[in-house]
Amino acid sequence: MAAVLQELKPLAELGMISPRSRARMIQSLRQQGIQNEQVLAAMERVPRHLFVAEALASRAYEPVSLPIGWGQTISQPMMVARMLASLLAANHPRRVLEIGTGSGYQTALLAALGMEVCSIERIEDLVRAAQARLFALGFHRVQVRLGDGGQGWQEQAPFDAIIFSAAVPCALPPLFHQLRIGGTLLMPQELPGGQQRLKLFRWDGMEAMETDLGDCLFVPLRAGTVIQRNRQGA
Ligand code: SAH
Repeated sequence: MAAVLQELKPLAELGMISPRSRARMIQSLRQQGIQNEQVLAAMERVPRHLFVAEALASRAYEPVSLPIGWGQTISQPMMVARMLASLLAANHPRRVLEIGTGSGYQTALLAALGMEVCSIERIEDLVRAAQARLFALGFHRVQVRLGDGGQGWQEQAPFDAIIFSAAVPCALPPLFHQLRIGGTLLMPQELPGGQQRLKLFRWDGMEAMETDLGDCLFVPLRAGTVIQRNRQGA
């Protein structure tokens, strides 16, 4: 992890955004109850402003979600911190499948926390942008691919953890068969009334033990993929 974070540093300093705004974000996360020092250290060092459009970079450290195009958003820092802290509290996964790469910000944090990351995104433009960012920031081992994450990534299974960054309808059968025994699945679950709850499941090979981690708000998981046609030069 240290090597990756070392590589990140000079790139982050290239931006116009002061590391002080990032430090303020960390302070606010602490005040809101995030105590996991590993999560806070990773978030202090991964430059969130490089995961949004330049026009929004100055707002990157505010406690809000921001648009990343295609009607999608980069989750707010507190939500990402809660997801990561819950994941690390359950166990410290080595290999993780992320569904809904989006900007790649959470992907970068998972990698900065020392995990081997496979990530799936259904919108081709977002896949390309996230791959380019992650590579430029030195996360060369992260695998991001276009696909419908609802199917998981069988060829790369089993995972120690699966983390959904989009709200999963109650009816969708979770991907427990792609988890190793003792693995965890973390997902925002959309209940029939539209309310969302963050759920953590621990898989024992036969059954999943569920823990409810409270309210949350994510964009919905959608089926299929979106591929941009007639791209100039593509
Ligand atoms: N954690 C991300 C948040 C991305 S928002 C970040 O830090 O930027 C959720 C993402 O899930 C969107 O990019 C959306 O396109 C993607 N998504 C929705 N349904 C999906 C599916 N079935 N498979 C893969 N990605 C999906």
